[in-house]
Amino acid sequence: MTLEQAQALDAADPLGGYRAQFMCPDGVIYLDGNSLGQLPLSTVTAGTELLNHAWGQRLIRSWNEGWIDAPQRVGAMIAPLIGADADEVISADSTSVNLYKLIVAALRLNPSRNVVVSEAGNFPTDLHIAEGAVAAVAGAELRVVERGALADALGDDTALLLLTHVHYKTAERFDMAGWTKAAHDAGALICWDLSHSAGAVAVELNAAGADMAVGCGYKYLNGGPGAPAFLYVARRWQEQMHNPLSGWMGHAAPFEFADGYEAAAGMTRWLTGTPSVLGLNALENGLKLWADIDIRQVEAKSAALWDIFHAAGTAAGLECVTPSTPSQRGSHIAFRHSHAYEIVQALIAQGVIGDFRDPDILRFGLTPLTLSHADIWRAGENLRAIVESGAYRQPEFAIRNAVT
Ligand SMILES: *Cc1c(COP(=O)(O)O)cnc(C)c1O
Repeated sequence: MTLEQAQALDAADPLGGYRAQFMCPDGVIYLDGNSLGQLPLSTVTAGTELLNHAWGQRLIRSWNEGWIDAPQRVGAMIAPLIGADADEVISADSTSVNLYKLIVAALRLNPSRNVVVSEAGNFPTDLHIAEGAVAAVAGAELRVVERGALADALGDDTALLLLTHVHYKTAERFDMAGWTKAAHDAGALICWDLSHSAGAVAVELNAAGADMAVGCGYKYLNGGPGAPAFLYVARRWQEQMHNPLSGWMGHAAPFEFADGYEAAAGMTRWLTGTPSVLGLNALENGLKLWADIDIRQVEAKSAALWDIFHAAGTAAGLECVTPSTPSQRGSHIAFRHSHAYEIVQALIAQGVIGDFRDPDILRFGLTPLTLSHADIWRAGENLRAIVESGAYRQPEFAIRNAVT
């Protein structure tokens, strides 16, 4: 591929117009939208309005002017992106906290089964939270196995299979329908972590028959740093499953100030405390951009960007660890190299921002709304030049930052 060919793809790109709706810093090619999505310009306007008017002027009256039902409203906006109905999704807390709530609830739903199965090398918080969640339920335990051993790990004792749909390092994607069926065939429930899927690939929770899911607001959904996360519970479970973090915002009538807890109907029971209005406002604005987007176009462009960057990385001699079949991966690409950290730092010094995942992974998010084919071509040239010249060997690139 030449730069001219990449530019020709840009000229015909149906998503090319979205870039102008985001703040794009000069001199930066941002390949980390899978970790912190870019800032939509409308979020600046909406945030200023929220501060000056809704908070500044309307003060507590704003709770009745759109704040109190923001978790449900934002959840309904996420629903079409994950193949759910509007009343099956709510925005709340962090992905970690939502995982805790759902894992404990799933274990309590079926006390005759006591094992949570998950994958070794899953995103750390998923395993850490699962460890804490099983410790909170008498007799429960966590079984963590390699991907190839997952099917055999499901049995009569399995209450829940907890899987991350798109792997945070390799971008490998599980077959959602197939693994949901495998869990159900074993008599278990399934919970999907969609942190690297929502806004990246087409997700069909209901078509797959999934039971529960969680996901992140600050990655492909552009909700801002630490944005509220979301959770999904299939309608058939909603009245039977209970939030172990029973708080007043999940109560059927919070403003009756009763001593006893009575769960709200539907997804509202998954709230715990007062929602983060500033965070929800930013997430809602990120999601507004998604209303008219065809995820199939996003997937197709992601695949085209992937091909360009993959060619550059492999030409530089890097080993690609991401599946080459588009339907088997998410929207990032990862390479392995013994000097991965230094190469990423050298790229960042040139304005090409990707990230490093311990111990040897270079990871690059390919976000079709904000990146052009020419961006990816140029970033690929930077990568190739840095690896081939050995420019990453300068000592300053080896200094480890707290966030990699
Ligand atoms: C990013 C990510 C999370 C993040 O969890 P937080 O509670 O927001 O820190 C969780 N799981 C996966 C798979 C992720 O990729």
